[in-house]
Amino acid sequence: MTLQAIGRPFVFDLLHNVVCASTGRCTCKQRELPRRVLDGSGRPTVRYETRLVPKSVTLLVGKPQDVQVAVVRIPRVQRAIARGRLASV
Ligand SMILES: [Zn+2]
Repeated sequence: MTLQAIGRPFVFDLLHNVVCASTGRCTCKQRELPRRVLDGSGRPTVRYETRLVPKSVTLLVGKPQDVQVAVVRIPRVQRAIARGRLASV
């Protein structure tokens, strides 16, 4: 399907549990992200863990862009379509 931003550019994330799950192809990046945890003696420390970071997509005004069909199941995209911030063309 093809979406286009209305008025100003629209940025959203290709949510893993929505888009990757439905296409069966993960486009996320694995990133080492810091997380604050308490060590054995209760002191705060930073531990790095691998997490999936979804790819983000920018839709430009006046530039229709093809996106996966599953994108319309992303809540932010649904709201944007309902509010007229995005149009499917
Ligand atoms: Zn993914």
